[in-house]
Amino acid sequence: MNTYALVVLVALIGEYVLSVITSLLNIRAMSPRVPDEFRSVYDEETYRQSQVYTRARTRFGLLRGTLSLAVLLLFWQMGGFGWLDRLCREFAGGPVATGLLFVGTLVAGSTALGLPFRIYSTFVIEERFGFNRTTAATFSLDLLKGLVLGTLLGGTLLSVVLFLFELTGSLAWLWCWGTTTVFMLLAQFIAPTWIMPLFNTFTPLGNGELKDALVAYGRAARFPLEGVFVIDGSRRSAKANAFFTGFGKHKRIALFDTLIAKQTTAELIAVVAHEVGHYRRRHILKNMAFGIAHTGVLFWLLAVCVEQQGLFDAFGVAESSVYAGLVFFSLLFTPIELVLSVLVHRFSRRYEFEADAFAAETTGSAEPLVSALKKLSADNLSNLTPHPLEVYLHHSHPPVLQRIDALRALHVTEPNEPLLASS
Ligand SMILES: [Zn+2]
Repeated sequence: MNTYALVVLVALIGEYVLSVITSLLNIRAMSPRVPDEFRSVYDEETYRQSQVYTRARTRFGLLRGTLSLAVLLLFWQMGGFGWLDRLCREFAGGPVATGLLFVGTLVAGSTALGLPFRIYSTFVIEERFGFNRTTAATFSLDLLKGLVLGTLLGGTLLSVVLFLFELTGSLAWLWCWGTTTVFMLLAQFIAPTWIMPLFNTFTPLGNGELKDALVAYGRAARFPLEGVFVIDGSRRSAKANAFFTGFGKHKRIALFDTLIAKQTTAELIAVVAHEVGHYRRRHILKNMAFGIAHTGVLFWLLAVCVEQQGLFDAFGVAESSVYAGLVFFSLLFTPIELVLSVLVHRFSRRYEFEADAFAAETTGSAEPLVSALKKLSADNLSNLTPHPLEVYLHHSHPPVLQRIDALRALHVTEPNEPLLASS
């Protein structure tokens, strides 16, 4: 076993052990008592349900993680990568076609292996806790659309990357970085208008009390709120959510129909204000900039990796190639990605506090957002007391109790004019 193989093995097993430890700590951190703050929204039984749900999902995640690691190690140790590489070279001519076949087969294989887990998660776990609304038809259609979209977009990007590595030699990583950046920016514009509507129906929010209150809020916060849409989340799940997407004219705030059904107008305004806060505090732009820098580093490291014959030896692949290098590289850099994602999540959690503060300041009160967050957590059976290590490693949002404490500590002063006159 050479050094590369050892590093990959230690990285994969290390990440796995860490995820097992985190899961166990997370389960042990669950408090049997309903936190005082939540007594108004959680009865004992619902609270108990939320813990059973967290346990069920954690156990399921551990099982999935164990099996996928076992399959990967087995495939690797049995010489699967070398075998697949020879097979693809026989069937396809040229590095681009061979690469598409190689990566495509691996992606198809891992999608097929993940399918039973997706089915179990949706139709057994989510069903058992009353969340699932997905029919078999919707599920199959989603799968099909996802595959077609992934093949078209992923296939195009991969072809371009492989082609550029062939064509531009030592500066390939720079060319790939530039092309991917254009691709990512383009995706920001086409995703809300072309891709998301393939899966959900976006309906402009109809006239009424909520619309009036939103327009009034938008005027006071100097943020045009024409682009508020209702999304039919109830087609798939009873869980509620809201999100912001796109730039410029293409920006949209989407409210799940399940959210509108459960929250008051003041609470919904607070949720929208939180989303506006993400935009106004430039979180979306910052995330984009970080994503672009991240891609640059990855391409540079990839260019270094494809030069290392030892990496290909480690996986039993005789001839080096960019496509195989890409796959091995993704395994080799598991620990680096873990460190990077810790960083990303850290920023993301800070952005959540900032957006919460923005919402409280621009609506003149922290209370509507506090009650919206409480309802959301209760309805989604969220784990109220995640272990700090779990939060540190994996959570993009701070624990809800911390968000409530931070909101309460703001001492928001009432604005001169009431912003929510109608509610
Ligand atoms: Zn947020």
